[in-house]
Amino acid sequence: MTKPMEPRSPRTATVCVHGGEKPDPVTGASSPNLVMSSSYAVREQVSFSACDIDDDTPFVYSRWGNPTVAQLETKLRLLERAEDCVCLASGMAATGAVFLSLLSSGDHAVVSEINYPGSAELFRDTLPRFGIEVSPVDTSDPDAVETAMRPNTRLLWCETPANPIMRLSDISALAALARERGCLLGVDSTFATPIATRPLDLGADLVVHSLTKYIGGHGDAIGGAVLGSHQLISRIRGESAVHQGAVLSPFNAWMILRGAATLPLRMRAHQENAAVVARHLEGHPAVERVLWPGLASFPQHDLARRQMDNFSGMMAFAAKAGRSLVEPMIEHFETIHYAVSLGHHRTLIYWMDTGELLESSYRLQGGPRARYRETAGAGLFRLSVGIEDPRDIIDDLERVIGG
Ligand SMILES: *Cc1c(COP(=O)(O)O)cnc(C)c1O
Repeated sequence: MTKPMEPRSPRTATVCVHGGEKPDPVTGASSPNLVMSSSYAVREQVSFSACDIDDDTPFVYSRWGNPTVAQLETKLRLLERAEDCVCLASGMAATGAVFLSLLSSGDHAVVSEINYPGSAELFRDTLPRFGIEVSPVDTSDPDAVETAMRPNTRLLWCETPANPIMRLSDISALAALARERGCLLGVDSTFATPIATRPLDLGADLVVHSLTKYIGGHGDAIGGAVLGSHQLISRIRGESAVHQGAVLSPFNAWMILRGAATLPLRMRAHQENAAVVARHLEGHPAVERVLWPGLASFPQHDLARRQMDNFSGMMAFAAKAGRSLVEPMIEHFETIHYAVSLGHHRTLIYWMDTGELLESSYRLQGGPRARYRETAGAGLFRLSVGIEDPRDIIDDLERVIGG
């Protein structure tokens, strides 16, 4: 006799495979359909207004909702244990959606002083044009965050780990601060993925992912997602999808659904390989510094252990020869691609020039500028360790960094 079981929600690896995916009720197709239709034959008159979309609204037009995109939204929602999710055209579309949907002229936001350069420039250039004031601070320091808060602060924003120096922010500490001040906390968790960290469980209100990175995982589809309460996500969907049109293509959603199925396996391999590569580089005479949250020498290793169940494959390292290694890398690498982006199955490396970042994106002055230079020197190689055999990754690095 079969024993009656308490219903239990499926575990993470199972959600990655099955979440949001059910056999097609008409054909029985076991894998998700790719629905490219832009419009849908409806059975009743449906309103055109973004204000009228609710859970019962049927599919009408793919800018409002699409069955394949909805399957990905469900999978991600289950993974982050969020009430709701909206997928958008890119990680930047997702970040922009949070700020431009939830803030208005006269509002203030406190944001990480270093992060993905696109976000840094959105905060410094775009938002002020709409009357939204932004204070970039070191979000790894809750006191600095508290000092920067004002009565009109509506949103606190951090990226953890943060591009490119892997600086971590303590999500629980920031969530406590945000609650106390009655503002929202948003977290760009792209480097961590839901396998490492679940910001909503730690008290954040919103999580953003660039799906282009680990979640898609194969470097072949750009996408983004915002997750949070149904109320916040409805507002964001109405503004950024329906009004601003930043929708994710169903084809990309279908690619990302397939990628997400193997996320736990890939993250395990990324972490294992990163550990091998980080330890190799750390002991290398031509390398000055390795920043990987999994290393005991990482300045915030304790926080990493508390907040990350997986240290991911992202690291940065300073080599004595610095920028002069770029050309030999482009010339001599056999496995690693000298390319931007990250979180793909293949290893990617890129020189993050301190002078350029400080001028073009971060524009730090005084103490923060000095602190950044102290960590990054003239620049760092950002290394996204892939899932190849780590010996081949090390062989490539050995071909160029010398000793
Ligand atoms: C890549 C990235 C983004 C932007 O994502 P796109 O999909 O390229 O628009 C935002 N935040 C972080 C941390 C990223 O790595």
